[in-house]
Amino acid sequence: MTKEGKLGWGIIGTSTIAREHLIPSIRAQDDSDVVAVMSSSPSRGEEFAASEQIPRSHETLDALLADPAVDAVYISTTNELHKDQTIRAAAASKHVLCEKPLALTVADARAMVDACVEAGVIMATNHHLREAATLRTVRDAIADGRIGRPVAAMVFQAIYLRPQLHTWRTNKPSAGGGAVLDVGVHCADTLRFLLDDEPEEVSAFTQSTGLASQGLEDHGMAVVRFSKGLIASFHMGHNMQFAGTGVEVHGTEGSIVARGVLTQQPVGEVILLTEEGEETLDCDHEPTYRRTVRRFNDAVRNGGRPAASGEDGLRSLAVALAIREAAATGQRVTIPRDA
Ligand code: NDP
Repeated sequence: MTKEGKLGWGIIGTSTIAREHLIPSIRAQDDSDVVAVMSSSPSRGEEFAASEQIPRSHETLDALLADPAVDAVYISTTNELHKDQTIRAAAASKHVLCEKPLALTVADARAMVDACVEAGVIMATNHHLREAATLRTVRDAIADGRIGRPVAAMVFQAIYLRPQLHTWRTNKPSAGGGAVLDVGVHCADTLRFLLDDEPEEVSAFTQSTGLASQGLEDHGMAVVRFSKGLIASFHMGHNMQFAGTGVEVHGTEGSIVARGVLTQQPVGEVILLTEEGEETLDCDHEPTYRRTVRRFNDAVRNGGRPAASGEDGLRSLAVALAIREAAATGQRVTIPRDA
């Protein structure tokens, strides 16, 4: 805790997303603050602490975890590091908000979730889209029966990766690069959230159109069958200048079309189409990462549930890994239920 009794956050990794979104979101809460950062490079950690006005930069994970002001950690290093950092944070009784994809294998994600359960700490995955006003509106409309029984869905997050992020995502398989792990987990988590249903089986194709190298894909499409029978298409990309993002869910009595909604900004619109005509649904926009941190802080203080749990991160990772396997083998892949 800080001297003022605020929840103290330690930042693991001097990432772009920590700088642009999570540090401001932690500071936007009345009850939390950023107290320390840790980097694999001490000089980068010092520079980051100075530029972001963070009180301390630790040279090792052990030092950050031994810092008594750190109650919770935000892990946004490259994906192969999430497992070890989460397990060590849990062992030090720190609550964990970990970036997606949680890990590179389902078994690793399971070990992370189990470690947090065993330590009695909160574990959340930063699937921030669950906090988008647009997507919560879609989920409510479906749950209220406004489109009848959902039978088909399309989710698309075919973006153009900013040039400064053409690093490990596009050229380092060992760091968990590639469009499927990066945005496929968001597509999976979004539909799991909207439909309150679990995917069971996938077929997929992926490709590199020149942006990704080293055997990584920068683009892919998958067809996914959910347990209640709905069939969904996923369009995932790092290489699309103008395709945009969105989700459509089509039911027996109506359709919902939400465009520009799988983004880091609180924007986009939701349209409901039924026999009665077309209606734009109200969305009370608020920054998604800010809401995610608020829910996390509340879970730590009052025992609530984070927006996306560790288990959610694991389930959505399992879908992305199944898409990769389906694309690599040319076979349909069943998503393990008891992973
Ligand atoms: P970055 O590429 O910006 O940073 C990743 C890590 O690389 C940093 O934590 C840092 O670790 C290290 N690093 C930073 N600068 C350098 C450098 N100059 N040379 C070498 N290493 C450097 O990652 P992103 O912010 O794009 O993504 C981080 C994580 O967050 C990923 O897991 C990603 O999937 C996730 N993410 C999630 C989003 C969401 O909406 N939920 C959105 C964007 C990203 P260190 O300081 O320890 O060396």
